Parts: sequence; C-alpha cells; structure tokens
Amino acid sequence: RTVYLNGEYLPENEAKVSIFDRGFLMADGVYEVTSVLDGKLIDFAGHANRLQRSLNELDMTAPISMDDLLEVHRELVRLNNVDEGMIYLQITRGAPPDRDFAFPPNDTPATIVLFTQNKPGLANSPAAQKGMKVISIADQRWGRRDIKTVQLLYPSMGKMMAKAAGADDAWMVEDGAVTEGTSNNAYIVKGNTIITRHLGNEILHGITRAAVLRFAREAQMQVEERSFSIEEAQNADEAFITSASTFVMPVVEIDGMPLGDGTPGPVAARLREIYLDESRKAAV
Ligand code: PMP
Repeated sequence: RTVYLNGEYLPENEAKVSIFDRGFLMADGVYEVTSVLDGKLIDFAGHANRLQRSLNELDMTAPISMDDLLEVHRELVRLNNVDEGMIYLQITRGAPPDRDFAFPPNDTPATIVLFTQNKPGLANSPAAQKGMKVISIADQRWGRRDIKTVQLLYPSMGKMMAKAAGADDAWMVEDGAVTEGTSNNAYIVKGNTIITRHLGNEILHGITRAAVLRFAREAQMQVEERSFSIEEAQNADEAFITSASTFVMPVVEIDGMPLGDGTPGPVAARLREIYLDESRKAAV
C-alpha cells in the first residue's frame, strides 16, 4: 500500500512517525474516515468541515488546505486502486522534543497521515440483511465527544464487551439515555417517526447522521431529535445505526431482546437504499 505522511507518498513500511509524537504519547490528535464507493469519495465536504471544526476546538492549525486534502484523498484512491473501501486521515499536534502537558509552540509542525483500506463488497454487506445485536454499557468517555479525537480506548473496550456478550456493538448510556454506539450514531423507529439523540457535546455529530436525517425529511418521514432510553428502544418498531463505514445498518436485538420479529425493519432498509443512491450520485 502507498500511504501519505507529511507531504510525501510512501510505501507503508517506509512511513515512520516519531516516538515523541503527541498523538502517540497523549492521544492529542483528530481523525476522519471517509468511505469510497465506485472509486469516489462519499461526502468529502462534510468530513473536511468536521475536521476543520475539530482542529479549531483544539487550537490546532490544519497543515494542509482542504482543497489539497481532497487531492491527497483522490491520489491515494488512485495509487491503491480503491473501488470500495475507506480512507483514514489523522492529524496530531506533532512531535516536540520534550514530553510536556502544555501544548508546544504553534510553529511545531503537525503530523498528518492518510491511508486507504480496501473493502470490496462494503455497500453490499451481508450484515445489512442480517442486522446487528447491541448491548448497552455505561458511557464512560470524556465530555467533548463532539470533537473527533483519537482517544478511542473506551469505545474499543465497549466493542470487546459486546463481543464477550455475543453481540456486535454496544450502545452507550448516560443519565438513563442512549448517547451513541461505539463508533456510530443510534436511532430508533416508531411508526413513521425516526428518533435520534439531539446534537451536543455528548455525541459525535455524524456526517452520515446529517445526510440520513436530510434524506428522511425529504422522503416525508418524521424526525425527532431527542434522547431515548434503552427501554424505549427495546419497545420500538425498529432500530439502526449510521456511520461513514457502515452507512445505515439495522439493529435487531438490544440487550438480548429482539425488536419486533427480530429481522431488519423497512425504514432502515429504505434509508440505507436512499443513502447509498444519493451519496453515490454526489460522490467526488
Ligand atoms: N459516533 C462515534 C462515536 C463515531 O466514532 C462515529 C464514526 N467515527 C460516528 C458516531 C459516526 O460518524 P460518521 O457518520 O461521521 O462516520
């Protein structure tokens, strides 16, 4: 694979980052994952805007313009022949010579890394036919989940808790309400109404979430942006998640309780289809 590191395209085994990098020492970095369908980027503008927002919130300066970043994404897709898959992008506060909690001087060069992952069949995933099982766990992450940082230890632990329980993912719960999945936004459906948590510091503002809610409203579905509990979710008609790498994925079981007849629901299936169609049309 060819990867991108600080302005250069390199074979992956030649791309090296300093042991003093603050991403490594302090998880002082932000990231984005953009999916690729038909060799094109899905919602690049959405990801670039959120990246800029994450950087601003952490007083970091983008080491590259968003126009050039688009070209790097495209070049990596081309060099690695990605038809379906994703591109991972990470920017850290760089590698100052000493470890210090205080941010280094502003002229410390940031570290920027991008790599691709080929995922043939991503859009036709059999998981979308089968649906996912989720468990609930306490949300023990920090309080600025709206910033897309590389501090992913608790979500990784959540994935392992889900696996240990024979499930596919975990929905995190705080003050009796579902925040989101370990790496996705969470939804329930009641009748013709789609319910998903309102935006705030408690969840990541999903790029897929924004698109799916727009498409849902355009298709005359009702959308309510509000909190819901695990009990409400277990009594819903359907449930699903969204993320850049899973698009719309049905949830068929929550804490061992099947939703409806335990098979993926029609609203999730329809939203997945609309999302894939519209996103492919708008891909760059
Ligand atoms: N919430 C969390 C915690 C996530 O990690 C992600 C995916 N990175 C999402 C939601 C979904 O965001 P997006 O649709 O932008 O991929």
